[in-house]
Amino acid sequence: MLQTIAIKVTPVQESKINAVDWENLPFGKVFSDHMLVMDYKDGAWQDAEIIPFGPIAMHPAMSAIHYGQSIFEGMKANKTVNGDLLIFRPDMNAKRFIESAERMCMPPIPEDIFVELVRKMVEVESNWIPSKEGYSLYIRPFMFATDEFIGIKPSETYRFVIFTCPVGAYYSEPVNVKIEEFYTRASVGGVGRAKVAGNYGAALAPARIGQKNGYHQLLWTDGKTHEYIEESGTMNIVLVIDGVVISPSEESDTILRGVTKRSVLDLAKHWGYPVEERKVSVKEIVEANKNGTLTEAFGAGTAATIAHIVKIGYRDGDLILPPVEGRTFSNRVYDYLNDLKAGKIEDTFGWTLKV
Ligand SMILES: *Cc1c(COP(=O)(O)O)cnc(C)c1O
Repeated sequence: MLQTIAIKVTPVQESKINAVDWENLPFGKVFSDHMLVMDYKDGAWQDAEIIPFGPIAMHPAMSAIHYGQSIFEGMKANKTVNGDLLIFRPDMNAKRFIESAERMCMPPIPEDIFVELVRKMVEVESNWIPSKEGYSLYIRPFMFATDEFIGIKPSETYRFVIFTCPVGAYYSEPVNVKIEEFYTRASVGGVGRAKVAGNYGAALAPARIGQKNGYHQLLWTDGKTHEYIEESGTMNIVLVIDGVVISPSEESDTILRGVTKRSVLDLAKHWGYPVEERKVSVKEIVEANKNGTLTEAFGAGTAATIAHIVKIGYRDGDLILPPVEGRTFSNRVYDYLNDLKAGKIEDTFGWTLKV
């Protein structure tokens, strides 16, 4: 069934934009002027509204905060050198949002409507897209259950919101990750493939242990044997071993299907690299590091794009990886994606949506 949704725009009286320190943009702390809000009730999505950004009132029994029906997405918009506005692969986020919604028993938003809501929001906030290179407008769509009811059942009402944040670089430096062999991020049959709020809350305590020891993030292993690496909790993992671009297979439902990783692997294939998506054991990584064939490792995700990994903590020791400067594949990918978002190269894959 085709549904169309009207979007009513109520602009702010006065923009906050002049108060922003554009030279020092922290990640996720500066919010643009507006937000989009759309409610689900009586079995259907209602019309959307773009209104001044601000607090959302809630009932103390609102079901999302008790029972966790809460999902989100993250993507970026950029301003090109010609002043065009581009959103990177929003159709992929729309598809994933549908999958997350279905897994959490929430009403999906049709792909074309999701993309149009995101597009409209970016259009309204277009002067909030930084033009500085490497900077972007981060877009955060999310949906949560709003029934005012204590009891475990799918909510009958939901709210969908999009807000945006102008952001600088997520990590200013390469990262250290720690291979986690006790705690589990996701298990087979669970919700690891969905972008569900609770996945991130559950990872905080284990991550803090790693952070106390100097690791930015954990490198999660499979929940059953802890022998195979999965991902890093906000980014997928890509390795180059012996010239082969390798990433843990998404076949199990424990790994989030990242848009950035997919783009990286598409580029690798396009450039003629051998690409393998398969199980990747910790043992293989340790051995490849020892014999010098592990030449590159990085996290791929919207926030960081490419986060070079320079150190991998494993049990009581550390694997030290080759210097970032010599990493031909990941540096090429990073430059390509940046140039694409800056409009410096032609979008031959059709990855960007012009606003
Ligand atoms: C969002 C996310 C990623 C990265 O996905 P992108 O679509 O590339 O941003 C990776 N892992 C997890 C668990 C995530 O939530």
